[in-house]
Amino acid sequence: MNPLLDQPAATPEEIAALEAGMARLVGGDRDVVLVPAEAILALEAIAASVAAPGRRALNVVTGPYGAIFGGWLRRGGADVLDLATPFDEVVAPDAVAAAVASHRPEVLAIVHAEAATGGTNPMAEIAAIAREAGALLVVDAVSSIGAEPVPAAQWDADFVAIGGQKSLAGPPTPSAVAVSERGWALVDANPHAPRGSSLSLTDWRDVWIRGDRSAVPGLPSWLDVRAMLAALDRLETERGDAGEGRLGRAPVPLVHRR
Ligand SMILES: *Cc1c(COP(=O)(O)O)cnc(C)c1O
Repeated sequence: MNPLLDQPAATPEEIAALEAGMARLVGGDRDVVLVPAEAILALEAIAASVAAPGRRALNVVTGPYGAIFGGWLRRGGADVLDLATPFDEVVAPDAVAAAVASHRPEVLAIVHAEAATGGTNPMAEIAAIAREAGALLVVDAVSSIGAEPVPAAQWDADFVAIGGQKSLAGPPTPSAVAVSERGWALVDANPHAPRGSSLSLTDWRDVWIRGDRSAVPGLPSWLDVRAMLAALDRLETERGDAGEGRLGRAPVPLVHRR
């Protein structure tokens, strides 16, 4: 037998372990939808699930992925205000607060940390602004997850995109989306949210999370599933304390300029 090629499909137990490991990364109290594709598809699924004609969204753009996300919200008919910073800057909470006051968004989307610059947006402050405004919070944590705490419940984050191949040092798939109860309520109430689609978040939820987890929906790559389990194991061993970043030190913040 070739140990790399001749392996059985990922089992329901392995998928459940991966789901639980991903959930622990964001504090352990969110449903996690596994997406058998790279995180860019998870992000498109979130955008497609929350966008609706006329829905107001504030999209913070501190790098390329924020810009792409805004485009997907617009494609779904949303009324999007992009709040963009220069390439090497993170966003200032004051600027977010001002944009929230003028645009009154129902959805606020932001990238937690930018892989290209190492800039980490001040999430606690921005989450507080979103909460105060009653806006749903979408966090792209693809590059930060593993290196920095992503306390989804503390931030009241409704959708958190998780990817494997940045700070997790794992394979690029499966990616994942952690969803809050409020997030699910919005998707369920959105007639424009994809269903029966690779961009659907509810397909996986209905078959797997709300099922008995005995049958894996689709066939996630077994090689990637096992590699991701190994990456999560390694991270948890490295960490000891789940609240600490992978490197055990705070990220270097970029300047906030107005
Ligand atoms: C890399 C990255 C993505 C896309 O992830 P892929 O797995 O490459 O599709 C999305 N958002 C951020 C912030 C990233 O750094």
